[in-house]
Amino acid sequence: MVSRLDSVSAFLRSERVDVVSPAPTESSGRPREMFQKVLIANRGEIALRIISACQEMGIRTVAVYSEADRDSLHVRFADEEVCIGPAKSAESYLHIPALISAAEITGADAVHPGYGFLAENAHFAEVLNACKVRFIGPSPRAIRLMGDKALARTTMTEAGVPVLPGSDGAVEDAERAEDITKAIGFPVILKAAAGGGGKGMRVVDRIEDLASSFVAAQTEAEAAFGSSEIYVEKYLPKPRHIEIQLMADALGNTVYLGERECSIQRRHQKLLEEAPSPTVDDALRKKMGEVAVKAARAVDYEGAGTVEFLLDENGKFYFMEMNTRIQVEHPVTEMVTGMDLVKDQIRVATGEPLGYAQEDIVIRGASIECRINAEDPVSFLPSPGTIRSFHIPGGPGVRVDTAAHAECVVHPYYDSLIAKLVVHGRDRAEAIARMRRCLRLTVIEGVKTTIPLHLRILDDPEFRAGRYDTRFLERLD
Ligand code: ADP
Repeated sequence: MVSRLDSVSAFLRSERVDVVSPAPTESSGRPREMFQKVLIANRGEIALRIISACQEMGIRTVAVYSEADRDSLHVRFADEEVCIGPAKSAESYLHIPALISAAEITGADAVHPGYGFLAENAHFAEVLNACKVRFIGPSPRAIRLMGDKALARTTMTEAGVPVLPGSDGAVEDAERAEDITKAIGFPVILKAAAGGGGKGMRVVDRIEDLASSFVAAQTEAEAAFGSSEIYVEKYLPKPRHIEIQLMADALGNTVYLGERECSIQRRHQKLLEEAPSPTVDDALRKKMGEVAVKAARAVDYEGAGTVEFLLDENGKFYFMEMNTRIQVEHPVTEMVTGMDLVKDQIRVATGEPLGYAQEDIVIRGASIECRINAEDPVSFLPSPGTIRSFHIPGGPGVRVDTAAHAECVVHPYYDSLIAKLVVHGRDRAEAIARMRRCLRLTVIEGVKTTIPLHLRILDDPEFRAGRYDTRFLERLD
């Protein structure tokens, strides 16, 4: 008998990649009823998070996995599983033909992409739609318009959403970047149009450095994203990163679910997030929320999405980018709103209406998330290896999203996130106390983790007072 795995391996060996017929039809593949079976095109904690949502909704799940992930929990807990290739992401979790064939072989009627990997790949969404498999996310058009950050800036400017001064779209060469910089003034930040994960960005303070930084940013962007397109933006010296969570259905209902404060970053990457932001009051929340809804409406957005803003010291905010997927830090929003964003994503992908309106959204208490990464807490270098012991405490107001366990391997091929420790308190002070308690009672041995750094952040008087910006970690020593 030929097993499913054999069929997929045969498919991967064959030249039949033409199963991927490029026939973009934005609305095809939309079922009218709840999905029977969802394939999760991801791994780790987010794959488990999606499996959990599906289980509660009575939906069968299909896990896909690379050879390195054979013993992972997402494979164990899904109803069906398909090996999609070797450890390297490019040959497994990013390999569209393997994923499509896995969906076809298992008869999945929808695919949830999670975050990272193919979550913001418009081509993947198009191919799925063409195969009558629903992509749980926005339309390929919305992904494309927001995925190119230079294009998104232009789209947002046209929609009346405030953006920082900078180039109108991508900049062709260093001379043009120099002209723009002369007009807006130093410092500026050069960013990759296809960028993400804090990569491909250069801050430039002096005219002498502009040309070399431009070339360096181009080279870095080409290597990381396969596109050397760069755009220029005014660099704010002490901004806060505030993002608005949105949920939208196919009928045009879009609501904002409050903000997340994500200014605790290392190398432009988030490490600790909280909701609500200690600096955002009701009036600002409403203002930012309404602008975020306007941004989403400009691209006919559907599903869960996040509009990221930079907030300056005078309370002015500027669009930075829109993430067209569920985000790592979504649990803090779930903790303060009591909602389940992944279930809502799945529901609205079937065409179901949101079922709630803006006035139904109530923010209760305060929530903090610490990303526990297998990383050296000082150098931030990855620390892959085998986790020897693993214990994370529970208790009131504690949530742990993880796929890790004792004796599991943290692979060097993938993201170094081991667990998301999330707490909820009646107020921010209780949330901080609860998080410190949980971090102290956590045991993870075998790999280095970011826990010592999180404890230092939580003990810092400026953090405790809510007075911090994106440069906070640089000053912590
Ligand atoms: P990515 O998509 O790689 O995450 P973003 O555009 O979201 O990149 O920016 C990531 C972080 O970089 C921000 O949260 C902020 O700390 C910093 N940053 C980006 N643009 C600016 C800017 N114009 N001024 C100051 N900081 C910025």
